[in-house]
Amino acid sequence: QEKLDLVARRVRAFQDFPKKGIFFRDICPVLKDPEALTATIDLFEEHVKQTCPDVDLIVGVDARGFLFGPLLSQRLGIGFVLVRKKGKLPGPTVSVSYSLEYGEAEAEVQEDAVSPGQKVVLIDDLLATGGTLLAAYELMKKQQAVVLGCLVLIELKALNGSRKLKNCNVFSLLQY
Ligand code: 5GP
Repeated sequence: QEKLDLVARRVRAFQDFPKKGIFFRDICPVLKDPEALTATIDLFEEHVKQTCPDVDLIVGVDARGFLFGPLLSQRLGIGFVLVRKKGKLPGPTVSVSYSLEYGEAEAEVQEDAVSPGQKVVLIDDLLATGGTLLAAYELMKKQQAVVLGCLVLIELKALNGSRKLKNCNVFSLLQY
């Protein structure tokens, strides 16, 4: 609880960003405060060690999943894989398209990033509608990975993202 408070204290919100009507949760102050950042990774590490100690890889989602994923994977002594927006990764890739508020986007992973049967945990900063993490989940399924769960700092409960990710356990540090 003490660790959770350290994290919660460093999450702030901005009205009408990136556009009118959106109440944006900003995690930048968590990164700026080494105690809060350590507490964040501690809590993720404890959760993974308790629930899925046999995980092989942490898979981070573009872009803020990249801020937390490598810190966690290093703690666990395992590798980190990037799921990126289309066109950013060299070499053969696998992609899935997913819907955003307006239109479509594509998420990609390098074909050799994950082997069939490898056990992965997904990570991002925030779960809203769940579209982004679902795309990462589907990419992992395409690669025949076993998805053990999803980690986020923040879950926006009203948007029901965890319902969309019904095949995947979602663990969030903070819920709004
Ligand atoms: P979803 O696909 O679940 O609707 O949206 C989640 C994605 O959008 C995440 O990759 C997250 O980084 C970004 N996102 C959406 N809303 C917010 C927000 O309020 N704060 C932050 N930090 N990211 C958000």
